[in-house]
Amino acid sequence: MGGGHGFFTGPSSVQANAQAGLPFAEVPEELRSRIADVLRNEPEHPQPVVQFSHRDWDRRPFGLRTFLTPHAGGLLVALLLVLAEVGLLHVGPLLTQIGIDRGVLAGDRRVLFTVALAYLGAVGLSTAASWFRTRFTGRLGERLVYQLRVRVFSHFQRQSLDFFTLEKSGVLMTRMTSDIEALTVLMQEGLVNFFVQGMTLVVITAYLVFLDPTLALVCLLAVVPVNVILTMWFRRVSLIGYLRVRDRIADVLANLSESLAGIRVITAFNRRDHEMARHQRIIDAHLDANLYTGRAQALFGPGTESIGILTQAIVLLVGGRMALRGEVSLGELTAFLLFLTSFFAPVQTLVQLYNQYQQGSAAVVKLRDLLAREPSVPERSDAIDLPPIRGAIRLEGVTFGYDPDHLVLRDVDLELAPGEVLAVVGPTGAGKSTIAKLITRFYDPTFGHVTIDGHDLRDVSIDSLRSQLGVVPQEPFLFNGTIRDNVAFARRDATDGEVIEACRAVGLQGLMDRMPDGMDTPIHERGASLSAGERQLVALARAFLARPRVLVLDEATSNLDLLSESVIEQALDSLLEGRTAILIAHRLATAMRADRIAVVDDGRIVEHGTHDELVSSGGQYAEMVETWMEHSDHAGNAR
Ligand code: ADP
Repeated sequence: MGGGHGFFTGPSSVQANAQAGLPFAEVPEELRSRIADVLRNEPEHPQPVVQFSHRDWDRRPFGLRTFLTPHAGGLLVALLLVLAEVGLLHVGPLLTQIGIDRGVLAGDRRVLFTVALAYLGAVGLSTAASWFRTRFTGRLGERLVYQLRVRVFSHFQRQSLDFFTLEKSGVLMTRMTSDIEALTVLMQEGLVNFFVQGMTLVVITAYLVFLDPTLALVCLLAVVPVNVILTMWFRRVSLIGYLRVRDRIADVLANLSESLAGIRVITAFNRRDHEMARHQRIIDAHLDANLYTGRAQALFGPGTESIGILTQAIVLLVGGRMALRGEVSLGELTAFLLFLTSFFAPVQTLVQLYNQYQQGSAAVVKLRDLLAREPSVPERSDAIDLPPIRGAIRLEGVTFGYDPDHLVLRDVDLELAPGEVLAVVGPTGAGKSTIAKLITRFYDPTFGHVTIDGHDLRDVSIDSLRSQLGVVPQEPFLFNGTIRDNVAFARRDATDGEVIEACRAVGLQGLMDRMPDGMDTPIHERGASLSAGERQLVALARAFLARPRVLVLDEATSNLDLLSESVIEQALDSLLEGRTAILIAHRLATAMRADRIAVVDDGRIVEHGTHDELVSSGGQYAEMVETWMEHSDHAGNAR
């Protein structure tokens, strides 16, 4: 569509080849089969089935236990596999003993041969178990992380707008990336390994007790109390430390995302060095947090290790005295000391894993807090679906403050008949946009009601409400994609014809003709490659295509030049026709098009009526009109 008609369009490679008289202008035959091969091996990603509800979701506090319980079966399989792997590896020494005693010493070749074969088999099986386990736990871990990402993302989608005002986007991004990643390692390897090392420790302890109960007791007395104290200390200190690390990473990402979003202002005001300093202070704090946990680790790791060495010295001392007294044989003492080494290997691994676990726990705490947030504009459990609306809107005694101590609207009453267009005017900060946000239920009033066709907005399901409303916000937001994607944002099923009609209606045709691929031309993130006026036109076309019964336009015409303004005014006429609409009017020219006008000042409706009524009543609106006329006269004279 439109491609090839644009003004900047050069010939495509196909056309160029054809013009140059080259034999083929398509993908060569031999490459085509390779493309087919590649495509055959591509994993298929069918359209995901989205289970999203504003009302029902898993409200249990997020924790490793609740999260992992449904996968207990999978984790058990992983555990059995590790046990098989470790067990098979450890039959080696046993087989060697049999081989030597019954094979070599007894001169029985068959035994030797069988033992060697068994050894080979054990190694083979252990490798296979290891391969399978790594794949299995890897997949299980990835699947868990995938579920968690979906859960966190849908929780974001469920939140009300105040959540996104209060939380920095960088912090939310940290929850989604770094925090979840901190859990990945734990889920893939950590938990299973933790259990296995613990089991190994129990088995070796039992073996030590079996070898010599007294020495085992000496050894446990030396190790357990100090280790328990050290671990309790580390648990407290490291959780504080890792929570701080999580916060500092969030700060780093928040600052990064803000400075990327504001790069144009930073450049314009030549504040790059200032931004550098600000970022450096934030990464300094991040560094401090990491150094703190590093210090804690430095005490915990080597601390437990030195306890191990000390224990060996104690055992040597106590055991040596016992040997001197003939209570143990020299061989027993040697064996015991050797076994102590295998006792401390899992202890060391457990120490490392515990550190990993603590990092994961800090992430769990952060995610638990996030997932426990209830949206401030909730959907009632008995919410009804709003039937197709006629468009009668009422605000009854509406009082509202973003912060309850600081009211922005006070006792506002407004009524719009179906199909009526109401303009809201007033000074900046008076509360005009806030009225629009209450009608679209971005927020709920603190007192009073907002109703559509007699239904309180709080009683209807969010989907049924939003699908019948159209909003053109003050700063239109465009997504990375084509113009078509952006226009058809509210109606994915729209045909090309409908998209073109919407673009024509709002005067976007000129832009599309200029673009190389017409409506399939990509526009960059946030529409950075379009002018402010063009972005506004795209937002209008989006609302036009959605064909809502109720339309809310927030100062949608303020970014336009005089020419586009006239285009837009015409577009508005067709857009507003037959719809109930609220125009948050910045300019009086827009306000005059409305059936009625409400003047808002300091959170109250101070006047309302038609343009003529308000002008003749000589109030605030009449004053505004007068000032405006004077200005346009001056402007006219100056020209
Ligand atoms: P306008 O009449 O210019 O559209 P608004 O309705 O946007 O005014 O804002 C009314 C008041 O509410 C202003 O004082 C503004 O600072 C405040 N305000 C607007 N949005 C928020 C918000 N998300 N959180 C807190 N205060 C807000």
